[in-house]
Amino acid sequence: MKKLIYLDNAATTKTAPEVVEAMLPYFTEFYGNPSSVYEFSGHSKEAIAKSRETIAKALGAKPEEIYFTAGGSESDNWALKATAEAYADKGKHIITTKIEHHAILHTAEYLEKRGFEVTYLDVDESGVVKLEELKKAIRPDTILISVMYANNEIGTIQPIREIGQIAHEHGILFHTDAVQAFGQVPISVDDCHIDMLSSSGHKLNGPKGIGFLYIRKGVKIRSFVHGGAQERKRRAGTENVPGIVGYGAAVERAVNTMTERTAKEAEMRDYLIDRILKEVPYVRLNGHRTNRLPNNANFSFQFVEGESLLIMLDMKGICGSSGSACTSGSLDPSHVLMAIGLPHEIAHGSLRLTLNEEITREDIDYVVDSVKEIVQKLRDMSPLYEDFVKKQAK
Ligand SMILES: *Cc1c(COP(=O)(O)O)cnc(C)c1O
Repeated sequence: MKKLIYLDNAATTKTAPEVVEAMLPYFTEFYGNPSSVYEFSGHSKEAIAKSRETIAKALGAKPEEIYFTAGGSESDNWALKATAEAYADKGKHIITTKIEHHAILHTAEYLEKRGFEVTYLDVDESGVVKLEELKKAIRPDTILISVMYANNEIGTIQPIREIGQIAHEHGILFHTDAVQAFGQVPISVDDCHIDMLSSSGHKLNGPKGIGFLYIRKGVKIRSFVHGGAQERKRRAGTENVPGIVGYGAAVERAVNTMTERTAKEAEMRDYLIDRILKEVPYVRLNGHRTNRLPNNANFSFQFVEGESLLIMLDMKGICGSSGSACTSGSLDPSHVLMAIGLPHEIAHGSLRLTLNEEITREDIDYVVDSVKEIVQKLRDMSPLYEDFVKKQAK
């Protein structure tokens, strides 16, 4: 097998070996249903409690404020739908942003069809929410503000503490989708006035299909899955015990390695960004130069089709992601790149590369050399580029 350079860690990450190891006994040995009464099921029960504690500690929360779900999408759905329902008597207005993940945006649209009003805030050219606009959007009937901690496409980190403060000054609940941020930046739910927070295991070297929603004590929120009494009667269904155990192990690992790991990633990210910006003409970096996730780089190459670039990188063993939402079968460029003001034709030539701590300088050199070669090849085939060069020559 040719060497694989995996630069799509915003899409998912490798499950860490120590995480897999922690999970295995809960498939084979301690498979008891945590809700059963016999001693054997106690192993499962204890393992869940331990994981919940580890996760709560990482956020400065209480264990009973952590509710396990089946992933980030479910947590986002739950946070919005259940708050909307529980607080509808107080008001029906929700504020979010134009750059949220579809798990938030499509849920917000669902609520709009059911009588709620949603304000989608603009962001500035680097993808940061404008606090003045947020303040102006607040109304007496606003019940919830939901702003993602860090963006999954361009990596921009939001002024979460300030947003939380504004929300609480107005007595409004504050939810944040921290799926990309948790494990990459230190988070304190109290410091940032966060009432609800979504996270997902597979984005931080944990298993897929497990997530949690942090719900601050006192927040009125309805049960999302009805059935048994699991998760304090708010999320029914037999617990994903191995998943929860792996999640705890992944969070522990993420917390313990954060400083060193993210410093390494940021160094390689900056090396990648510097080389691309210096050596490839007609390119721009999307997102903020410094205020971004340590592992995120996102570029737009003029006169290049992002999908073609991806396919040709794949032939060289490089996994990346493009800014156009072709996965959804639409040709529309990413809503995030639109929101930061990129014209369609520029947004279409976008490439997101998200690193992990295993990526070396040699890997980056190989990636940059490949990108340079492919971008030139694609431009040589582009009539738009030909016209552009002719005009330049005049
Ligand atoms: C991946 C992601 C999600 C969805 O998480 P899943 O566990 O895959 O459902 C939600 N929000 C953001 C910002 C993400 O990056």
